[in-house]
Amino acid sequence: MENNTEMKIAVYPGSFDPVTKGHLDILERASSMFDKVIIAVLKNNSKKSYMPTQDRVELIKESIKDMENLENVEVGSFEGLTIDYARQVGAKFLIRGLRAVSDFEYEMQLSQTNQAIAPEIGTVFLITKPKYNFISSGIVKELSFLGQDVSKFVPKSVVEYLQKHKINV
Ligand code: ADP
Repeated sequence: MENNTEMKIAVYPGSFDPVTKGHLDILERASSMFDKVIIAVLKNNSKKSYMPTQDRVELIKESIKDMENLENVEVGSFEGLTIDYARQVGAKFLIRGLRAVSDFEYEMQLSQTNQAIAPEIGTVFLITKPKYNFISSGIVKELSFLGQDVSKFVPKSVVEYLQKHKINV
């Protein structure tokens, strides 16, 4: 029988290029469900990322510094397969956020692939709040590059970073 006192650890993987308020909402909710949540930036994604991994990690750290009740959250980064990283850190759960039906197909495929290669690791899907439904890292970068204020969509540290770096999408 499984030991009931075993810590429930979850990994919340993603590009976080950059982290948005939508991501942070999912993170907050995950942190209330698990003993420990590791939000982890994927280094080599098939998607092209615009910000260096270290900057994406630092921005997450900055963003969660002043948030309450996130003492059980750690920030990490990894290369390669998410399930290998999860095994390394002793996590039995992955967290993914769902916005619209358009996320569903990809997320289902990803989750089923992970199930096939790592049956001991499950994926937990959390549905975004409607007010964050349309927020994506890509849209945020585009708006910011075009001079729009993105402070409604991303934490303050990200607003400042984008203003400074003028990321061209
Ligand atoms: P990936 O490249 O792995 O999709 P993202 O950084 O784009 O990485 O997203 C990480 C996770 O967060 C994914 O599960 C994605 O569906 C979810 N997510 C992205 N934006 C939002 C949002 N606005 N609200 C809730 N979940 C989101």
